[in-house]
Amino acid sequence: MNHMQRFAAIETGGTKTVFAIGNADGELLACERCPTSDPHTTLASALAFLRDAAQRHGPLHGVGIASFGPLHLNPQHPAFGHIGATPKPGWSDFNLLGTVQTALALPVALDTDVNAAAMAEQRWGAGRGLDPVVYVTVGTGIGGGVMVHGRPLHGLMHAELGHLRPRRHHEDMDFPGICPFHGDCLEGLASGPAIIARHGASLAQLPAEHPVWRIQADYLGQLCAQITLALSPQRIIFGGGVMQQNALFNPLRDRLRHWLGGYVGALDAADALRNYVVPAQLEPNAGILGALALAIRSAQ
Ligand code: ADP
Ligand code: ZN
Repeated sequence: MNHMQRFAAIETGGTKTVFAIGNADGELLACERCPTSDPHTTLASALAFLRDAAQRHGPLHGVGIASFGPLHLNPQHPAFGHIGATPKPGWSDFNLLGTVQTALALPVALDTDVNAAAMAEQRWGAGRGLDPVVYVTVGTGIGGGVMVHGRPLHGLMHAELGHLRPRRHHEDMDFPGICPFHGDCLEGLASGPAIIARHGASLAQLPAEHPVWRIQADYLGQLCAQITLALSPQRIIFGGGVMQQNALFNPLRDRLRHWLGGYVGALDAADALRNYVVPAQLEPNAGILGALALAIRSAQ
């Protein structure tokens, strides 16, 4: 693989879709976006951009797609490469992988936006040289991507770390949570919209002594403890709008230590925790760089 080879990257998000051309070093050479509307209109924009970019930058060797979920990622499943049931109009059961493969006649790799971001952080960002690596985004939702032995974790489906259920914080016993499936799962209690639903304001707008900071740190600390116990990663990387509040990281690490109860000796020292729970390095490009990482892998 040389750095003159060109790869295509597509990131389909809840509100916008991003498409780019990049090289094997993780450099984006051209990048554009359009609103995410119905799948045919959205992909028509992406494909027009990629065909034009291939003319200007040279032939493409593979395509990576980082998508919102749920996704069918089991190659044995008849719906492999399709989007699962989603409220987004027109996308339920859409054959995302097959449509792009047919249009471009290139190798195509598809994964969740968060698995892709985990892959990019492991390859070029905060997870370099480490494995397993977990990437968690705390924004409109909470999602987690998992890289194990250099590959995104797939199985029955993909991990859904944002829907684990935390023990309720004693200052947060009444709020029912906003997850339409589970109510008070992590996403229902600690996503950006959950904070706004509980307090009428985002974390950035609430003073340091407000209980929301203790509640948020506790729930994310519990999430990290469960991730640690279940997956034993070498690092947990946090991105997303809510995690732009840097003041969250130290209280989160303190709560992680609390919930582990001294059981994981490797995390006893304060600087071990500082290296274990870290901010993402590739924001706001983790998703599209993840799609590029998928494209590079698809061509190997
Ligand atoms: P998305 O998850 O849709 O990709 P973001 O990661 O930006 O988008 O998350 C948006 C959510 O994060 C909103 O609910 C918003 O309230 C919250 N948010 C965005 N920026 C900040 C910030 N700087 N501080 C605290 N919360 C934020
Ligand atoms: Zn949930």
